[in-house]
Amino acid sequence: MSQPSYPALSYELYPPRSAESEQSLWTTVRRLEETRPDFVSVTYGAAGSNREAAIGLLRRLLTETTLKPLAHLTCVGSSRTELTGIIDRLIGGGVRGILALRGDTPEGRTRAGDVEHADELVRLIREVEAQRTAQLAAGRVSVGVAAYATRHPDSANLDQDIDVLLAKEEAGADFAITQVFFRPSDYTRLVTRARRAGVTMPIIPGVMPLTSTRRLRKLSSLAGIDVDDALWARLEGARTDDERRRVGVAATVDLARAALDDGAPGLHLYTFNQHAAALDVLDALDLARPPQAGLAASL
Ligand code: FAD
Repeated sequence: MSQPSYPALSYELYPPRSAESEQSLWTTVRRLEETRPDFVSVTYGAAGSNREAAIGLLRRLLTETTLKPLAHLTCVGSSRTELTGIIDRLIGGGVRGILALRGDTPEGRTRAGDVEHADELVRLIREVEAQRTAQLAAGRVSVGVAAYATRHPDSANLDQDIDVLLAKEEAGADFAITQVFFRPSDYTRLVTRARRAGVTMPIIPGVMPLTSTRRLRKLSSLAGIDVDDALWARLEGARTDDERRRVGVAATVDLARAALDDGAPGLHLYTFNQHAAALDVLDALDLARPPQAGLAASL
């Protein structure tokens, strides 16, 4: 009997920076776990600035929860030898999903490292995986990459972003997750152009609960994405925090629903380690999820 298919659901978490933030992160982890996501991703500082904290979180997710972690890994500023060691450590420790990224050079530091772009990192992951075939029981590590619904600030144009996405798939990537975007048409355009260019892997929209103007401002300057003026005006115009949150959740739900209606294979929510807004979005979306007993029970 064929099983119903559900849109994939995943969340992004970042490693805690203090004992206090670790405690609140774990409240978030437990609340998100109840929604039975397909995976949770764990960010990684460029040049491995928070490597041990990221690995510590991955270890706890693997050993203390039912969640399947996707480990982000950046190559900027790291040598091939270092990266090989980290990939080996991740696979050896039971991680079965890696998001291969270039990363951004921290301010004031020069870019160094002999793996320059994400497509080269994908290839390196596949090489290390090939050495570990016996341990993987001939299975595969799932490798994800970043995609951009609006031009990446270092790219000349959208065509370059699509060429790079195709190169990452050809290097061995299985799926892509998008950077934050604010207009449904941006996601549609990305998928249309990618398919036309020959990209076949799933492209999961990355959606951020749009409830904090401070966070939006920071993100837009970090990622070089202009926040939609109309949305910005509505958030700024809110008279109370509650109203701002309602406006933000509604806008996020509209964005996510438009992407799903457009055939998106799932949804990746940037949580900023907070569950409330992510759960509000999920509640309002009423996303179909596998039965409580979990996927294995429906085999
Ligand atoms: P690439 O795919 O390498 O592309 C970077 C730039 O180089 C682009 O302009 C591209 O056009 C160009 N380029 C790529 N390949 C070539 C080539 N062969 N020749 C010439 N030019 C090329 N950052 C972190 O530090 N930690 C994280 O955990 C993290 N998680 C992220 C998760 C998601 C879902 C996304 C979308 C981004 C994340 N980032 C993270 C940010 C990411 O590291 C930056 O956006 C970075 O600037 C680019 O990474 P990339 O993997 O897309 O790089």
